[in-house]
Amino acid sequence: MIILEKVSKSFTTEHIETQALNAIDLEIDAGDFIAVTGPSGSGKSTLLNVLGLLEPINSGNYWFEGKNLNALSPNRQQLFRKKNIGFIFQNFNLIDELSVFENIELPLIYQGRERKARHHRVDELMERLGIAHRSSHMPQQLSGGQQQRVAIARALSGQPKIILADEPTGNLDSSIGKEVMLLLRELNAQGATILMVTHSKEHANYAGRLIQMKDGFHLQTQN
Ligand code: ADP
Ligand code: MG
Repeated sequence: MIILEKVSKSFTTEHIETQALNAIDLEIDAGDFIAVTGPSGSGKSTLLNVLGLLEPINSGNYWFEGKNLNALSPNRQQLFRKKNIGFIFQNFNLIDELSVFENIELPLIYQGRERKARHHRVDELMERLGIAHRSSHMPQQLSGGQQQRVAIARALSGQPKIILADEPTGNLDSSIGKEVMLLLRELNAQGATILMVTHSKEHANYAGRLIQMKDGFHLQTQN
């Protein structure tokens, strides 16, 4: 589904260049559940942001179902992202001014889906993730674990082709973190393609494939 070919990405701040990704090659198949691990600063988030079209690359190729995404204009990349990619972040990144329902509905509004279909989809997801009783609550009224469930529902709502999760359990107690991992594993078993960055060796074990990063290099892949 996804092929990265010799993808490099550097950042320059105050004339100092940091090579965050160094000629990365990576293939992701539909249905994969991949964990990316490695020390702080090794390029894990940059890899996820490049895959999510949040960061442009300096060189190499990014293929998605045979389409070369580098060749798209920034506007088209943004449209592609909204249609095909779901994100889960460490800090949940919910919109505080919107209710649980409205947060989950947002990707469907971006996709121009009609109201009835949106409501049906949001209700179904809230039910599936056990947060239906929180529908009209605001994010700040929820526990961290509940907020992450809302974020996962939002990531799923637009039926993206891939879900990118950056340290999804980084702000959660270990028992809640484990619940989130079980949930991601269940979603993967139901067909979702997931790439997750994690510091935790234990959480990486929930995935089917492991990618280890070091200094912008992709060290090894274990299946
Ligand atoms: P990780 O997620 O593994 O901790 P990152 O991908 O965040 O690593 O960072 C990889 C390298 O790129 C680090 O040296 C980091 O300082 C640098 N970096 C990441 N994002 C930026 C940015 N927006 N501006 C400048 N340097 C950055
Ligand atoms: Mg990171």
